[in-house]
Amino acid sequence: MKRFDKERSDLTKTAFITGITGQDGSYLAELLLSKGYNVHGMIRRSSSPNTSRIDHILNDITLHYGDMTDSATMSDIISIEPDEVYNLAAQSHVGVSFDCPEYTGNVTGLGVTRILEAIYEISPKTKFYQASSSELFGNNTCPQGILTPMRPQSPYAIAKLYAYWMTINYRDRGIYAVNGIMFNHESPRRGEEFVTRKITSSIARVLAGKQDKIVLGNLDAARDWGFAPDYVEAMWLMLQQDEPDDYVVGTEWSLRIWRFLTDALDYAGLGDAIITTSAANKRPTDIDRLQATTGSTYSRLKWKPTLYWDDLVKVMVDADMRAEGLEPIGEGDAIIRKLYPDKWWEGD
Ligand code: NDP
Ligand code: GDP
Repeated sequence: MKRFDKERSDLTKTAFITGITGQDGSYLAELLLSKGYNVHGMIRRSSSPNTSRIDHILNDITLHYGDMTDSATMSDIISIEPDEVYNLAAQSHVGVSFDCPEYTGNVTGLGVTRILEAIYEISPKTKFYQASSSELFGNNTCPQGILTPMRPQSPYAIAKLYAYWMTINYRDRGIYAVNGIMFNHESPRRGEEFVTRKITSSIARVLAGKQDKIVLGNLDAARDWGFAPDYVEAMWLMLQQDEPDDYVVGTEWSLRIWRFLTDALDYAGLGDAIITTSAANKRPTDIDRLQATTGSTYSRLKWKPTLYWDDLVKVMVDADMRAEGLEPIGEGDAIIRKLYPDKWWEGD
């Protein structure tokens, strides 16, 4: 069902985003609107509102109800013959994938085949972006790049590996299909069940007097954290190249969780007495260190990250303090205003 329908102009490019209600989908929709695209997105029916990240642009986009598990809606959606499809929808949480391995395979793996097959049959000129993940590499040599063998270590990563190869297979059959192998990217819109946002939102709630402990899991793991608005620009650039290919996207820096945590606590003026760990937050298998080696990505896309982990900590703590009605420390807000002068995410 279409929630909002805008007239299509032949001069305007049309993009379809699955996962438009998620962190990346919301930033990508904003980016494409700013470039004059006609933006369509898939939304799941839910019993309570699930559009909080895109409420401010609802009147500018066209939403279609659908689900990655449903081939019929996929064909309907692709029948609008979009110029570009960005497949960002996934059961995207590694920890949850251990609890729901079959569902994760269906959505995150098979769902990609459903879209690719619809493109192949109905709209073969459509360009396709697949949100691949650094989780494909698993515990491996470090840093990890395009030539690193893949050793996925969770149901999520295994589903993404299937989707990765399916994308390449359809490319070999003539579809413009690319994999963006992205390392972790965060923002004030990151889901609160991911570790960075869990830390910064909990800190804000502690400061607001609503919570007194932060319970985490494995603090020794290390991740390469970038800024989501930067990464959606890389996605768009991948679909503007002459030939389709796969790209590794990351900052090339990698920090342990405890370093992100202690920096966030320091910035907020809190000590580590509020931190505890629990086995319930640990995974049956975890990846020790993810760190990108991006090879030719920066030069080919003429792109590089604008924001690194140390500034990300400040940006996310400031945004979560504001969300709790507190006066932000301010350094994070200043960083965003300087980097994105035309784009101030007041709502975050
Ligand atoms: P989010 O978890 O924020 O968003 C996931 C999106 O997928 C949401 O819009 C969600 O809808 C939608 N979705 C989930 N299940 C279904 C389904 N069955 N049918 C239709 N839609 C569904 O993820 P991100 O924005 O952070 O990530 C975007 C993509 O990039 C994901 O595929 C993720 O796996 C991948 N990725 C992300 C990285 C990161 O660090 N952020 C790193 C590497 C890859 P709803 O809002 O209704 O839940
Ligand atoms: P991922 O890299 O996609 O799995 O992103 P997450 O943010 O979910 O997890 C990053 C790392 O943080 C993993 O090694 C987790 O085991 C670790 N971690 C430690 N404590 C927590 C926690 O409380 N929640 C989550 N989600 N991850 C945690």
